[in-house]
Amino acid sequence: MEALLCRSVRLLLACSCKFSKYPGLLKKASLLGSKSPQVSLIRRRNSRCCGVPMEKPSSSGRAALEERKSLVEDEVIRGAEGGEVDPQTPRKSSSSRSSRKSFRLDYRLEEEVTKSCRDKHGRWINPWPTWRFPSYSMLLRFFLLDKNHSNVPTSKEVLDSELPVMEPYFVQNPDLSDSGPGLRVTWLGHATVLVEMDGLNILTDPIFSQRASPFQFMGPKRYRGPPCTVEQLPRIDAVVISHSHFDHLDAGSVASLNARFGGELRWFVPLGLMDWLVKMGCENVMELDWWEENCVPGHDEVTFVCTPSQHWSKRTALDDNKSLWGSWSILGPDHRFFFAGDTGYCASFQEIGRRFGPFDLAAIPIGAYLPRDVMQGQHVDPEEAVLIHQDLQAKQSVAIHWGTFALAYEYYMEPPVRLREALEQKGLKPDSFFTLHHGESRLIASREGDVFE
Ligand SMILES: [Zn+2]
Ligand SMILES: [Zn+2]
Repeated sequence: MEALLCRSVRLLLACSCKFSKYPGLLKKASLLGSKSPQVSLIRRRNSRCCGVPMEKPSSSGRAALEERKSLVEDEVIRGAEGGEVDPQTPRKSSSSRSSRKSFRLDYRLEEEVTKSCRDKHGRWINPWPTWRFPSYSMLLRFFLLDKNHSNVPTSKEVLDSELPVMEPYFVQNPDLSDSGPGLRVTWLGHATVLVEMDGLNILTDPIFSQRASPFQFMGPKRYRGPPCTVEQLPRIDAVVISHSHFDHLDAGSVASLNARFGGELRWFVPLGLMDWLVKMGCENVMELDWWEENCVPGHDEVTFVCTPSQHWSKRTALDDNKSLWGSWSILGPDHRFFFAGDTGYCASFQEIGRRFGPFDLAAIPIGAYLPRDVMQGQHVDPEEAVLIHQDLQAKQSVAIHWGTFALAYEYYMEPPVRLREALEQKGLKPDSFFTLHHGESRLIASREGDVFE
């Protein structure tokens, strides 16, 4: 029974099916004992950024970018296309809307971007032809017949040698965690990375729990432990969340981060997740639609933009796609970082690259991609991850969403091998899209003259 339930949880987390379309599977999912969907209506809090115009990037490499893009403080409420937002839009208080800063768009290029959209039932949908639901027969085959090739060793010695877990530098020497010039990235397993850039410490999709599940006694269990605890982290200024799946929005980690940092930490979430965070006790939550942006109070110079991804959301038996999913573009005066979250390949990465690229670093998923027909809509394979890297105009990328949970059926060490092959085939250097050990850090120089201690 547990094996069946584990498979259900795995599918719930990793598979792109719409359970609501398949009553039998929905029944299985409901066995997970989910809570009722959140219904309370709470306005966003702490929604103001300070009103100082954003500084232009100082890097000389940004000059061309600045020719076609300028950052302004909009006194008038503007949407992603620079036009005025529909005043009927119900999701924001007037105070937060009137204080929003926006990127002035590139009118010369008449840049088009893909907006978020919902179906007639109000559930979010993916607006690209690359989104596919697996058929009922595919799902049955996945559940009952497909062989799981992940073959994660049970031996700790083997795992320690293949996927070592290192103690992060900030545990060994907390004094070093005041970042100097450059951008520093530390992989903390799965899609969790710590990025230190432009004076901010940013955490992505934090999961420090043993299982990606509503329960800690069943559901996908991590085969590599977290390299540190929440208590060992340096100061965290911002957390970005990509979507509601349990391997990306972990209740235990949210509770621990909130207990430690409280309102000093700003949570950035896509539309529909604020109420969940508020119920968890988080006070400083910023909920954004695709192409909307905001910042950490007191740090106006770094802009957080919610950008698209091709995925879906689900946390309970009945809340399919009731909250939005997304990626995050974080744009500072000296560095630009992109976090893809969980995604299939879609046309929006070119849009993001055109509007906000080049990025100094992108965190892009490379795992949980087999069987391809079931997973393709929602999870890229390593070859598609390299395409995203190119679309974004990322100078370097770091691989995420692999080596931690066995959520799909590829061999657990296959993603980095295929990544290296894909880079080679495209004539790209191995270092342009690298993997890290759990807990390992890398410093990224964004411009000449960046010197690291
Ligand atoms: Zn997901
Ligand atoms: Zn995931």
